[in-house]
Amino acid sequence: VTPLTWAVLLPALLGGPVKVKADSPSIATRYQEDAHRLIAAALSDSSAYSRIAELSDRFGSRISGSPALEAAIDWILAKMKADGLANVHGEPVSVPHWVRGEESAELVTPRHVRLHMLGLGGSIGTPSGGITAPVLVVSSFADLQRHAAEAKGKIVVFDVAYPDTLTPFGAYGAVVPYRVTGAIAAARVGAVASLIRSIASLSLESPHTGVMIYDSTVQRIPHAALSVEDAELLHRMQERGEHPTLHLAMSASKLPDAPSRNVVAEVVGREHPEEVVVLGGHIDSWDVGEGAMDDAGGAVASWEAVRLLQRLGLHPRRTVRVVLWTSEEFGGVGGRAYREAHRADEPRHVAAMESDNGVFSPRGVRFTGSDSARAIVRQIGALLKEIGADGVTPNAGETDIAPLVADSVPGFGLDVDASKYFRYHHSEADTPDKLDPAEVARCVATLAVYAYVIADLPERLPR
Ligand SMILES: [Zn+2]
Repeated sequence: VTPLTWAVLLPALLGGPVKVKADSPSIATRYQEDAHRLIAAALSDSSAYSRIAELSDRFGSRISGSPALEAAIDWILAKMKADGLANVHGEPVSVPHWVRGEESAELVTPRHVRLHMLGLGGSIGTPSGGITAPVLVVSSFADLQRHAAEAKGKIVVFDVAYPDTLTPFGAYGAVVPYRVTGAIAAARVGAVASLIRSIASLSLESPHTGVMIYDSTVQRIPHAALSVEDAELLHRMQERGEHPTLHLAMSASKLPDAPSRNVVAEVVGREHPEEVVVLGGHIDSWDVGEGAMDDAGGAVASWEAVRLLQRLGLHPRRTVRVVLWTSEEFGGVGGRAYREAHRADEPRHVAAMESDNGVFSPRGVRFTGSDSARAIVRQIGALLKEIGADGVTPNAGETDIAPLVADSVPGFGLDVDASKYFRYHHSEADTPDKLDPAEVARCVATLAVYAYVIADLPERLPR
């Protein structure tokens, strides 16, 4: 009795269901060796980390519309060609172009303090000369409603506690509405500006930026983030009846949309080149720090995964396409543009994967798709047990693949230990030192195994 026979017999002896498919061998048997080669090659050096660091250090932050973003894209396209990848090109996308300009927030009374602030992406500036106004600190939208009568002419400060008891993304989801829509709520009750406590799981006087929106039915007012420490300072002063007053000056402005590109490169499929497995991350970042975690890491790890197939000469049946989306941070502009540009071949998209939670220790994938696809995904995941990345949980998430997933393309988000992510994301501290080369390498291995096996399966992954 061979081990393989035991694998079939044992469930029967134990009373489990016996299901031997005609199209055996199993995924485990078929792909164990290739998966092992990919994992070993990914873990054998720190080339992925080196490229993340070089991209981050060479170009710095890469906000939508900036020359730095376009220079980074040019550099990546040249490197991809040098890597020997196929069909390397940029696909044009028109992207938002918001410029922060000079900005400051100062406590004027009861004592003078220069506060730690960052304007939020998309905010208008203040009138030149700034705004000086008393502060109204609130701890929630409901609290703002309770104090609505006191808000007129004030700078509202949303000092909303970060819920430490939730998962990293659960906590983010709970407080991010204050960043996105705080200016709308504050303007509705007559505030002249709106500030939030930074969305951060740890703060060393380090404010975090991020996107915000307006509503055409209310006045647009400036909207910025304060460090956690500064928001709490103002809150304590208010509770003592000290009536803090701030001077806020922001010269932020919105310029006309700018030309950018989604970056595309491929390993062409040997049997069904027209069928495509897409994987990637976003190449734009905020305009602070270096966008190393968010999302040079995910972009480069995806690129490295495809380069790994190329290097090992693993040419799957279908095409594996890396896409580095532009302008994710302003609401997934590149991801939507990709779907529009690929309407005609979208039905031939077999799967879409993205890594945008930091390239920390991978646990597996978050998957959105049918039950029959999920059963196959679990078998692929089992190939990653040796690096602890065999988990399959629901909900791919991920902004850039969302338009494809909404059109029933099976979606995968790289699932990582994101417990440190919200300490750094969207802040000056998003720099390469936050990443561990060994963890990055395991992310590359996970993406490479998934992309390769899905692209090579004899039968296309069902929708
Ligand atoms: Zn991101």
